[in-house]
Formats: sequence, C-alpha cells, structure tokens
Amino acid sequence: MEGSCGGNRRQFLKATATTGAVLAAADSVLAAPPESPLPLVKLGKTGVKVTKLGMGTSWAVAESFVQRAIASGVRYIDTSETYERGKAEIALGNVLARTGQRKDVYLVTKNGSYEGTKGSARAKTFVTHLQSSLERLQTDYVDCYYIHGIRGRDIDLFTDPEVIKTFEELKRSGKIKFAGFSCHDAMLPELVEAGAKSGWIDQMMIKYNYREMNVDRIKRAVDVASKANLGIVAMKTQGGSEAFRYGPGEKDERILALKEKGFKAPQAAIKAVLNDERIHLAVSEMTNFEELRENMGAVVAPLTAKEARLLEEHRVLTANRYCHGCGHLCETASKGVPVATVLRYYRYYESYGKREEARALYQALPPESRAVADLDLAGVDAACPHGLPVADLLRAADRRLGIV
Ligand code: SF4
Repeated sequence: MEGSCGGNRRQFLKATATTGAVLAAADSVLAAPPESPLPLVKLGKTGVKVTKLGMGTSWAVAESFVQRAIASGVRYIDTSETYERGKAEIALGNVLARTGQRKDVYLVTKNGSYEGTKGSARAKTFVTHLQSSLERLQTDYVDCYYIHGIRGRDIDLFTDPEVIKTFEELKRSGKIKFAGFSCHDAMLPELVEAGAKSGWIDQMMIKYNYREMNVDRIKRAVDVASKANLGIVAMKTQGGSEAFRYGPGEKDERILALKEKGFKAPQAAIKAVLNDERIHLAVSEMTNFEELRENMGAVVAPLTAKEARLLEEHRVLTANRYCHGCGHLCETASKGVPVATVLRYYRYYESYGKREEARALYQALPPESRAVADLDLAGVDAACPHGLPVADLLRAADRRLGIV
C-alpha cells in the first residue's frame, strides 16, 4: 500500500509540476515555442504525434486567438469549409501564412458538400471542395481530410469505389496525408464500425462525452475502431455540460451548489474523455484565453475521484436538459421530424449562441422535417428515456429557428 501511495504522490507531484509549466506557457503570447508544453500522443495508424488538446473552429474564429493558441502549444487544429461559411478557414490560413507555422500544426478540414449528390458527382466534391479549402487555408496540403458529419443514410460512402479511389488519388497527389470522417449522428455506432472496417479510413472525430461514453453500443464501436488502430478524436466532449441555459430567474440550487464546491464541469468533462485510453485527443471549441488555459490544465491533470463523483452528480441532475442524440429511440413517434438533429441545432442556438448558423441549418431541412406546429407530438415525450419535454423543445426550436 505504501508503495502505491508513494506512486500516487509522485504522479500527483509530476502532474502538478506539468500543469504549472503548461499554464505558464499559456500565459506566454510570444512566438510559438519549438516544442509544445502539452502532452503528445501518437494518433493511431497515422503514426503522427499530436497534442492531446486540439482547437475546434466552428465559431467566428479570431486570428489573434488562433495565433495565441498555437503560441501556447496547441498543435492540432480542426476546421471545415462549412464553419462560418469558409471564414474559419480564411482566418486560419491568414495566421499560418503570417507566422510561417503551417508545418507546426496538424491541420484537418472537411467536405460538407457531398450530401445530396450521387455517383461520380459525389466523389468529385471531395476534389473540388478540397481545392477551395486549400486556397482559403493558403496551403498545398492538409494532414487529414474528412467526410464531414456523415449520417446513416450516407453509410455507403465507406464502400463506394469512386470515393475510395478519389481519396487514394488525393493521398498520392500529396494534397491530403490521411482520410477520415466526423460524426454525431444517431447511427454513430454503426458508422464508426463501418468506417473502422473500411480499411481506408485513418482517423475519425466523434461525439464522445461523459453522458454517452458508457453506453454499450458506443463502447463496442469505439473498441472496433481502436482495434483497427484508427486515430480517435473526441468532439462535443462537453455533452452540454451547462445543458440548456436556464431561463431568466430560473436556477437549480443543486447545480449552483456543485459550482460552489469549486467544481468545473467543462474541464472535468475533458478529463473524463481523456481518461479513456482509446481516445487520443479532445478537440475543444475554445473562445477565449481563460478557456484555453483551463483546458490546457485539464489535459495534463488526471480526473480525480472527487471530480468523477461530482461529474456523475452533474450528469444525473442535467440528464433531462440535454438531448443525447439517440434519435432511434424517439423518432419513430415524431412523424418524420428528425428530433435529434433539430434539438442539436437548438443547442447551437441556445447554448453555443450560434444563432445565424443554427437558423440556416434548421431552415435547410425539408419542410416536412420542420412541420412541428401541426403535429400531435404527445407520443414523443413518452418515447424519450431521459425525460426531455421533447414536444415543447421542438416547438420552441421551431419558433426561434424558423424565423426567416
Ligand atoms: S429527445 Fe430523448 S430520445 Fe430523442 S434523441 Fe433526444 S435524448 Fe434521445
């Protein structure tokens, strides 16, 4: 026992010292140090070492913040042609060109324009849209190119010979080093298994957080991906750790009590995900220096037993305020309304403050997917095992997101 206590103490001291060094580095806004103070990890079969903290850029990314994040040690950046309609790629391109740091970061972008296309037209989008991304990013290659947000209906992408050939050619041309996909669909487990078995996918970024990482079908799928040696990147690690915002004057004393105990749900959520050794890194949508600093600290310090207990308490307290994305459970009763998708867009609007983007996404859905006002949705509340007031949320989403 004594040896084990000594080991724990040594681990604690080491983590504390590393955390201090990392936080000190985050305070520096000088030119990027040659080496990141963040821990590195080998990203599965890519064999590339990347930082355990990556930066997500789906918001109105400020060039000064990107520069600061890289200077602080973040060496993994995730973007997409769709983020802020290409503006995120433009901002990243400006920073990487200005600082000459393109080769210092592992850069991922995505094609979100294949949806709704078929056959060779679908495969061709991966060539034409990559070219536009490279121009915005002011680079001649990306480290990995993703199929963006793959859904169950597009699962055949993994076995489509034209898509496979296209990615192989892009790799040969040097425009991409690796191939991957991102996913937060209700069919995530099936898609992850199909991607892992495809043989040509090198890495993936999936929705993975403390609310869902213990669900059997998700655990099994991640196992398959891990055995196939895919690089596994977690996104949406927060699982709405703040859940839907409380309305004006509305408080939950139990959540406030957790905060008063000094509990930081966002950082505990990142630690919980990285506690799973199959997960290589977490991509976080950081928007300010304070979050960057907190998250840099989170990736070096282990999840403590107390944090694990409080996170579980938090999960239980907020479970009925967060849509878990398990649309297969309630969409049989929603008469064509894609509940998980609509509530995700509503979360973008309410919790992330991405109002324009959320409205644009919602309004791009076919009319029958948005016709919630006329539907009898009584059965859909009963179908949700997490106790969400689904019908009310769908109607609230329609009121806020349906405004042209
Ligand atoms: S409303 Fe409930 S059942 Fe439907 S996707 Fe969300 S959490 Fe799952």
